[in-house]
Amino acid sequence: MTVAVTGAAGYIGSHVAHLLAEAGIHVLAVDDMSAGLGSRIEQFPLVEIDLARDEAPGVLRAAFAQHQVRAVVHLAARKAVGESVEQPMRYYSQNVTGLANVLTAMQQSGVDRFVFSSSAATYGMPDVDLVSEDQRCEPINPYGETKLVGEWLVRAATRSSDLRAVSLRYFNVAGTGRPELADTVVANLVPILLQRAAEGVPAAVFGDDYPTPDGTCVRDYVHVADLAEAHVRALTYLERDDRPHDVFNVGSGTGASVMDVVEALSRALGQEVATVVEPRRAGDPPRLVASVERISSVLGWHATRDLDEICRSAVEAARAR
Ligand code: UDP
Repeated sequence: MTVAVTGAAGYIGSHVAHLLAEAGIHVLAVDDMSAGLGSRIEQFPLVEIDLARDEAPGVLRAAFAQHQVRAVVHLAARKAVGESVEQPMRYYSQNVTGLANVLTAMQQSGVDRFVFSSSAATYGMPDVDLVSEDQRCEPINPYGETKLVGEWLVRAATRSSDLRAVSLRYFNVAGTGRPELADTVVANLVPILLQRAAEGVPAAVFGDDYPTPDGTCVRDYVHVADLAEAHVRALTYLERDDRPHDVFNVGSGTGASVMDVVEALSRALGQEVATVVEPRRAGDPPRLVASVERISSVLGWHATRDLDEICRSAVEAARAR
């Protein structure tokens, strides 16, 4: 069986692709190579295409037939929140039109199993201890909106065809499963802290006056290798279950503050990561931690790697570069 992985040259997509390959599944990589690295997917056949383009369904149809694709894991998307505020049309085009084109190609090809990469950004600023999938989604930026609209589109597609799908709402993904697949984009907390430490410059902590135990924002950090395993579980589930569309949080279920991450990374580095408190960043919820009850009871998945392991793997990968 072959699974097409869109966004396979990216940080998360490549972890998913390699894990599938390890499980004996053939992978067809689909990527526009705008942000991905060819070195991450050398072993896979590649369809290089911008999925938002009009010709995408036709190109995918041909590739699905050639490689006998049976399922699609769709990660290809733009994911920078700030950029999405500045370029909303680009984000809707890439993230929603791109998705519509993939689903069109699947329908035309009779490919009926789909795993969609969604995000905790769909929730917005929920004022709860643990956010469950039934929480009302009120995204506060175009990026989160495109992921929520994406889930709606996936659900609508399951209602109009034989498609069965799982949407996975990722929390804060970090770490690396193998050094050569590491996150090379310095856009999230762990890579930013690592870079500042290497430069010998204090890293910014955005606000220390939140209503949290140490005043800094609390998030749910999940190891990318655990996250990749959730995709494999989702694919297996789609083979045995007949519910049309399910949504699952993918997180560790435990909260870590910005200062907890700083401390874990300092331990992993064997040196103190210097920080400086800066004003709050707009749109940051004080706390965003997953309830993982549903994914653990339905998919039998739970995170097995903790924050220390996330940080150790990130440090190891940075040292290997
Ligand atoms: N953060 C920070 N300094 C930075 C980058 C991030 O204090 O240089 C904080 C941010 O305010 C948030 C947490 O780290 O509370 C995680 O931020 P990130 O951008 O990695 O992911 P997000 O939770 O926004 O999706």
